[in-house]
Amino acid sequence: MAKLGYDDTPIIPQQQWRVHDDKRPEPRVVQPGAEAGAAPSDAVVLFDGTDLSGWRNREGGAAAWTLQDGYMEVVPGSGDIHTAENLPDCQLHLEWAAPERLKGESQGRGNSGVFLMGKYEIQVLDCYENPTYADGTSGAIYGQWPPLVNACRPPGQWQSYDIIWLAPRFEGTQLLSPARVTVVQNGVLLHHDKEWNGPSGHRNIPPYEAHPPEGPLQLQDHGDLVRFRNIWYRPLTPYS
Ligand code: MG
Repeated sequence: MAKLGYDDTPIIPQQQWRVHDDKRPEPRVVQPGAEAGAAPSDAVVLFDGTDLSGWRNREGGAAAWTLQDGYMEVVPGSGDIHTAENLPDCQLHLEWAAPERLKGESQGRGNSGVFLMGKYEIQVLDCYENPTYADGTSGAIYGQWPPLVNACRPPGQWQSYDIIWLAPRFEGTQLLSPARVTVVQNGVLLHHDKEWNGPSGHRNIPPYEAHPPEGPLQLQDHGDLVRFRNIWYRPLTPYS
């Protein structure tokens, strides 16, 4: 095979590789999903629309949300549900839909939430022609940062979240680095590598408290009939 690169070029700063290094490993091949949002070949699928076996209620028992037509739906009053497995720093994809029939306003319309590690909430809310406080808008880093824009589709339509999540790191009780997140809704950037002040709170600012770098993904029962489907993640990996 012909030589693909070079061995007489400068070393790239902070790397062990030369420019166009012919010994640098090829990026591994990942088969993208067949359509937009479908899980790529190296994803860990958390919900494929067929069963809730990987999900638990608050007490650790079976998740009591309903399963139908390829999606799960909140059973109001049954409580939040979370994954049995812990997620590392990752790229997370999920899709959600608020009920078509309008009910309530502001925080009372199609409210749910994506709680990373069960602590850090990216808001889920029907914000289509539904004003609310800015840092509670759909896609908000709840209680801290409004999304850059409101990219909500009308209720009843499926909406995607693509989230790049970096957990905070601690040494003992000391915060070494805050949580960081990038969020894209329906192909529109909402947050770019944004730092969290700490876990999410309602009407307060909870401080960071040390925890492991991995934790479950939690979905919120806020009393509204919100649906979810197509939930998967890919652990973040270092460059070769
Ligand atoms: Mg919420």
